[in-house]
Amino acid sequence: MSALPDGWTMVVGLEVHTELRTDTKLFCGCANNFGDEPNTNICPVCLGLPGALPVLNQRAVEYAIRIGLALNCVVQNSSFHRKNYFYPDMPKDFQISQYDVPINGPGYLDLPDGVRVGIERAHLEEDTGKTTHLGGTGRIHGSDESLVDYNRSGVPLVEIVSCPDIRSAAQARAYAAELRSILIASGASDGRMEEGSMRVDANVSVRRGDDQPFGTRCEIKNLNSLRSVQRAVEYEALRQIALLEDGGTVTQETRHWDEDAGKTHTLRTKEEAYDYRYFPEPDLVPVEPTSEFIDTVRSELGPMPAERRATLVSLLGEPTDAQLDQLLSVVEQGLDSFVVAAVAAGVNAPLALTRTSNELAASGDVVATVDAQAVAATLLMEQAGELSATQSKAVLQEVIVNGGGDPKAIAKAKGFEQMADGALDTILDEVIAAHPDEWSRFCDGDDKLQGFFTGKIMAATKGQADGKAVAAGLRTRRSA
Ligand code: ADP
Ligand code: MG
Ligand code: ZN
Repeated sequence: MSALPDGWTMVVGLEVHTELRTDTKLFCGCANNFGDEPNTNICPVCLGLPGALPVLNQRAVEYAIRIGLALNCVVQNSSFHRKNYFYPDMPKDFQISQYDVPINGPGYLDLPDGVRVGIERAHLEEDTGKTTHLGGTGRIHGSDESLVDYNRSGVPLVEIVSCPDIRSAAQARAYAAELRSILIASGASDGRMEEGSMRVDANVSVRRGDDQPFGTRCEIKNLNSLRSVQRAVEYEALRQIALLEDGGTVTQETRHWDEDAGKTHTLRTKEEAYDYRYFPEPDLVPVEPTSEFIDTVRSELGPMPAERRATLVSLLGEPTDAQLDQLLSVVEQGLDSFVVAAVAAGVNAPLALTRTSNELAASGDVVATVDAQAVAATLLMEQAGELSATQSKAVLQEVIVNGGGDPKAIAKAKGFEQMADGALDTILDEVIAAHPDEWSRFCDGDDKLQGFFTGKIMAATKGQADGKAVAAGLRTRRSA
């Protein structure tokens, strides 16, 4: 982690757009699906054809409230405004958004290390279409042709605006990561940054020391990975410091992050609210959820990541740094219920965590429907020594693919049987005897051959041998 030059500090506030996981769009019945054939999920409303009228999607309101509650926001009566500007991805020439009264007012988010970041607001708005620029650099400027796909036009978004409470690039990343975890846990969003369903804009300014007024900020648009959030914020703070130390001034503007070059550059000077000629959307009534509705939404919200991490920490006792990393990602992927179920069935917590964070996490979406008891039963067999680690992983794969099953039957069908006492010793001696040249090189100190012998022994035992026992067997024979 690079630090800022002596005496300088940075101030960062993030604006995060997240697409909601509704079946349909915000103001029409078109499907909200990522990756469909371009311009197939469209209608007069989301194309902005004359006379088309928007109808608010109740599920989107519910999801927006879920996000608000998950971020400890004040959920309030709100209304929609038109934000007017021209861009080819927006056929109406205005975006329906919320302006002075957002559905979610002030709240906060606590980072895993305890630092609290204020949330200014989290409002509802519609997404724009998607343009693809062909030729040139892939940006609109200098491109040969531009294609536009309106499938995304009108997809519900919640924009979450943080207070300027973030003080380092690593903290900006941690905020985005925790927010993504919370969004996924709320069930309102899938948090997939690589699919653009969560996009981050970072506002960055710098100042000398901690007690000076905030400096002029620049906004970096559309960061689509946690890594680029951190890199872009760091780069931008250093750029501004260099500029100021050179006697220059920072101009408030919107900048673009070039991932390959590792640099930001000017997109446009900052527009002000009055540039957008905001005015109340005349085709929509105010949103006034009843307190019963809000209470129902609240009662359906599961525990948030912080609480679920705490549960795993208590199961592990004193987790190592590696285990902390594992449990962070297990919770983020919503797999912690597997660990909890396995531990409840008698599996030791570190084994439950490791297998979940490796085998289950690697299995993608299918894992959501896997029977946690079948996973637990497999790990119990491994713990009892009835399956080696390799065999246990193979049985787990089968359990995952089938969504469950009886691990004993799977192990039997795969021919996994426990090795008889002394069987490993026999195989070790046989393998060594069959490769005398390799063995003498190994004994002379060629450590690379460790892998060669381990592989041969694993093959001879069909993966049944315990890796630690193999290593120990080789070690005693080598030093004999
Ligand atoms: P605008 O209305 O121009 O978008 P906001 O006041 O809504 O401005 O702030 C947008 C974002 O910029 C918020 O996330 C806020 O925390 C952040 N921000 C505001 N001032 C600064 C500053 N001086 N340095 C860094 N971030 C800032
Ligand atoms: Mg703003
Ligand atoms: Zn539509």
